[in-house]
Amino acid sequence: MFVTALRDFNYDTELQVKTGQVFELRNHQNDGLLLKHRHVAALDSQDPAMIAKLPRCGECGALFENDWQRDRCGREHESGALTAERQERRATHVVAPQSRAGQRLRLAGA
Ligand SMILES: [Zn+2]
Repeated sequence: MFVTALRDFNYDTELQVKTGQVFELRNHQNDGLLLKHRHVAALDSQDPAMIAKLPRCGECGALFENDWQRDRCGREHESGALTAERQERRATHVVAPQSRAGQRLRLAGA
């Protein structure tokens, strides 16, 4: 099931989600509790084609419900707001500053 994170939290050891981030539940034991306690909400559309069109962070590839949430994710990469631990975990997804994603962010004034 695809859901939106309603707050920042660590979903599991591999995935730290941010508010507004769209991700797929991985059938963990406490998935039901996440829904019950409103850490996440099920997306209205579970259509993968629709979900693929959501705003995507050019740095880490995370999907978001809204452009501004995606832009915030990009700004956090640029400002180094992520903790060293998270940067280490995401190291494989980091793109060089001269990449197109970085240029888009600078053009957007982020
Ligand atoms: Zn990101």
